[in-house]
Amino acid sequence: MQNQNEMNISFDARSVNEGFARVAVAAFIAGLNPTLDEMADIKTAVSEAVTNAIIHGYDRPEEKVVLMCRICGNEVEIAVEDTGKGIPDIEKAMEPFYTTKPELERSGMGFAFMEAFMDEVQVSSSPGQGTRVRMRKKIGVQEG
Ligand code: ATP
Ligand code: MG
Repeated sequence: MQNQNEMNISFDARSVNEGFARVAVAAFIAGLNPTLDEMADIKTAVSEAVTNAIIHGYDRPEEKVVLMCRICGNEVEIAVEDTGKGIPDIEKAMEPFYTTKPELERSGMGFAFMEAFMDEVQVSSSPGQGTRVRMRKKIGVQEG
């Protein structure tokens, strides 16, 4: 029988919740016995997506970020959603070193890290409506 499980959480757009989101996903997927590298990759990707929702999506910390994590067999699927500002040009936003907040010492590498650490990253967004980042990664697949 295939291993299947799903969780959804909603939390305030406060930077203190970046750490919460990482740990929540780590705890949820622990049963898949990921390697330390796989765990680190997933935690980093979650952090980057959640940080983006908090910093770029919203101006008000009372707004909510929704985090979904689904296990299907040996695959982890994660979605991070906000209903904030949205991204006018997704392709441009995903280019390495592209940032709209250089004044906050952002390096513009968030999406590049998500793409490097996960098998697949899909972004959908509409200005004024919000952003959804969906990511997948298979656990226990030998690489290199
Ligand atoms: P870094 O992640 O290195 O600190 P960054 O956040 O600017 O810098 P990315 O994470 O790659 O870099 O994101 C690139 C750009 O995409 C951001 O500067 C922002 O303009 C836009 N963006 C990303 N996520 C969102 C979001 N949830 N809502 C609105 N805009 C976003
Ligand atoms: Mg970022």
